[in-house]
Amino acid sequence: MAWDFETDPDFQSRLDWVDRFVKEEVEPLQYVLGHPADIHDPRRNVLVRPLQKIVREHGLWACHLGPELGGQGYGQVRLALLNEILGRARYGPSVFGCQAPDSGNAEILAHFGTPEQKKKYLEPLLANEIVSCYAMTEPQGGADPGVFKCRATRQGDYWVLNGQKWFASHARWAEFLIVMAVTDPDAPLLSRMSMFLVPRDAPGLRIIRDYGFATEESPNHGYLEFDDVRVPASNLLGREGDAFVIAQVRLGGGRVHHAMRTIGEARAALDMMCERVISRETKGERLSNKQMVQERIADSWCELEQFRLLVLRTAWLIDKHKDYKKVRKDISAIKALMPKVLHDVASRALHLHGSLGITTEMPFAHLVMQSFHMGLADGPVEVHKVTVAKQLLREYQPSTGMFPSYHLPDLRERALAKFRAALEHLDDAV
Ligand SMILES: Cc1cc2nc3c(=O)[nH]c(=O)nc-3n(C[C@H](O)[C@H](O)[C@H](O)COP(=O)(O)OP(=O)(O)OC[C@H]3O[C@@H](n4cnc5c(N)ncnc54)[C@H](O)[C@@H]3O)c2cc1C
Repeated sequence: MAWDFETDPDFQSRLDWVDRFVKEEVEPLQYVLGHPADIHDPRRNVLVRPLQKIVREHGLWACHLGPELGGQGYGQVRLALLNEILGRARYGPSVFGCQAPDSGNAEILAHFGTPEQKKKYLEPLLANEIVSCYAMTEPQGGADPGVFKCRATRQGDYWVLNGQKWFASHARWAEFLIVMAVTDPDAPLLSRMSMFLVPRDAPGLRIIRDYGFATEESPNHGYLEFDDVRVPASNLLGREGDAFVIAQVRLGGGRVHHAMRTIGEARAALDMMCERVISRETKGERLSNKQMVQERIADSWCELEQFRLLVLRTAWLIDKHKDYKKVRKDISAIKALMPKVLHDVASRALHLHGSLGITTEMPFAHLVMQSFHMGLADGPVEVHKVTVAKQLLREYQPSTGMFPSYHLPDLRERALAKFRAALEHLDDAV
């Protein structure tokens, strides 16, 4: 019987190396550098490039890729365990070559790019010589694809894009963007849009402004305008009308990795909370002796462990079925739970640090804000909960009678019929 919660010793020793390396070499970067996607920052490159080289030498670079692209073919459970460690450090994903949105964009290019597109964009992207942007959301809405208006129209050998995009993360540093645009407004919703490769310096593409979310120091999300932006017809990714099919490719495994990185962040907050409550005294005793404090510690640990098991089981299901569609419910469930787990653990950590916890000298306010980021980016929580419920309800049949199939009088009647013969000699019992 296969039912195992242990990591095999070989892989565990690799994880142990990653854990030490991230703590000693990668975590300190976040205290002296700006945004990891700022690929042109010479200070970043002086410090980050040598670490990326070490990761390559250890065979751990861009592990999410299949072996045909230089990855290890690790499967989702191993990737999940690796990402849990990377989540503790802001530079973790960039040093290990699996940072969003480049990792998802690389998967799209690997699946749908032509040989020329792969040479021009995929190879430097995989080497982190360039970074990229994924532009789907528009100012009038992100959760409902029915409201997208940015148009691409075919003119001879070109596609011409017009419209706006919103929350295009890292657009300011990107060499190219993967843009979703409406190519046939009259088609059914899910075949209305197509995916395009747009160089960042394409004439007519303008960043109206960059902004950050509340606790981010650098503005790194772009509000974009496309004004007659012409790209060659060969910049269409996949087939016309296939944008939603292609979008699914970049989301499946990525959501599991994201969830595990979130666990890494929440675990770090729990560690800080534990250190603080055994260090701080009030009213003559340690905070950790107070039961309401203990409740917060216990709740945080239980919620984290529950969530971690669900994420790892989801990763295991993906490895087992090798088909994201069969694991849709589970993937949506972790996506829906992730913001709450981070929010609750980070808020308790903030609160137990008192006034210090709320300052910019501690990471908690940013972690709480991050939890809202997670509840929005890649689809709001509500949308994922709807998916869970719809998928779950498919497993049920409506009852055929007036009363539910589990109505107690009916159950008893059926049970009596089943056991009547065995019980009839005991008249009183029936
Ligand atoms: C930090 C961050 C980074 C991002 N990066 C990118 C990026 O790189 N590229 C990109 O294209 N987009 C990006 N986004 C945008 C993200 O995909 C959208 O924020 C998300 O899809 C929600 O769209 P919206 O913000 O327009 O909210 P809306 O669609 O206006 O939704 C607002 C709220 O309405 C509710 N709601 C919406 N739909 C439903 C529903 N069906 N049922 C019940 N309630 C609902 C939810 O509470 C939701 O939060 C990013 C967002 C954030 C916060």
